[in-house]
Amino acid sequence: MKTVIISDPKDLNIAADIIRKGGLVAAPTETVYGLCANALNASAVSDIFAAKGRPSDNPLIVHISDRTMLYDLVDSVSSKAVKLMDAFWPGPLTLIFKSNATVPQIVTAGLSTVGIRFPDHPIMQKLITLSGLPLAAPSANTSGKPSPTNAKRVIEDLDGKIEAIIDGGSSAFGVESTVLDMTSEVPTILRPGGITLEMLQEVLEDVIVDPAISNTLSQQTLPKAPGMKYTHYAPNAEVFIVRGTLEKVAHKINTLIKDDHKSGKTVGVLATDETKHLFNHADLILSVGSSENMHMIAAQLFEDLRTFDDHHMDIVYSLSFPKIGIGEAIMNRLEKSAAYHIIEV
Ligand code: AMP
Ligand code: MG
Repeated sequence: MKTVIISDPKDLNIAADIIRKGGLVAAPTETVYGLCANALNASAVSDIFAAKGRPSDNPLIVHISDRTMLYDLVDSVSSKAVKLMDAFWPGPLTLIFKSNATVPQIVTAGLSTVGIRFPDHPIMQKLITLSGLPLAAPSANTSGKPSPTNAKRVIEDLDGKIEAIIDGGSSAFGVESTVLDMTSEVPTILRPGGITLEMLQEVLEDVIVDPAISNTLSQQTLPKAPGMKYTHYAPNAEVFIVRGTLEKVAHKINTLIKDDHKSGKTVGVLATDETKHLFNHADLILSVGSSENMHMIAAQLFEDLRTFDDHHMDIVYSLSFPKIGIGEAIMNRLEKSAAYHIIEV
């Protein structure tokens, strides 16, 4: 199929038409690019899973552009949820509700709950409004790869597989939405994201973080967000996080680079503006930004991981970042891209 690239917002009606006819459109959001289909059309939604190669037991988030759309999709909305929507919608917060019969089973992967988000991006909002439909939208990448934060990366993964890609520049947040389960007794973070634990706690006293986020899941544990159990955000290069004091980390990485070079491997280092001069022997050194600005780091992370693949690195060593604020989301993505290979020094 020929994929149309839409770069003029005036042409959004073309994209909305595609959605209404059951087709797939990739669109920018403030988190990452999303691969959108009519959430109420099971066959269109099944095409999302096929285009991405996404496991069918990993549910999709449904996107709305107006809070009234929520009430058509869910069973009930608690006062706690209303407080959160007042504070953070539109924005990078997905809330999990008990779903009603309107939502096809394929969207929720058979769960009785559905994740809903009101994105804060004018193009995505307009696409939803023009279609007049709630849109199921996972990240617009091949399943398992780092999420796309610009149209070029979407084209790389999905050209020829979907009807259209809307180019809206780079995503502001660069990491996916926070997923918060509102159906558990205490609201529980299932995925850290743009809205941090600290921000949520300012609105609700009680918010907890699902333990499955920070640990590799044992075979026996069933994750509540099914997405948690899959390989995620992984470039082709093998990624290792090296953690410790900067001096030790730099020494360790430089020693590893020497060994890897002896065995003929190409090695990249993911560093910061402040540390990139420490790794002169690497084949490719990328800065994810200044350690002073964790939001910039979040916005750059996936793009850097994909750039290592552009240059065919076999191995990437990455610095570690403090798990504070948005740092939780950054490290969650980085640890998954490294398949939890962490070298402590
Ligand atoms: P993505 O679409 O790639 O941004 O991933 C969406 C994430 O939200 C995955 O980790 C899903 O498992 C999670 N998710 C979506 N819907 C639900 C739900 N109803 N219950 C729990 N987790 C969900
Ligand atoms: Mg994804």
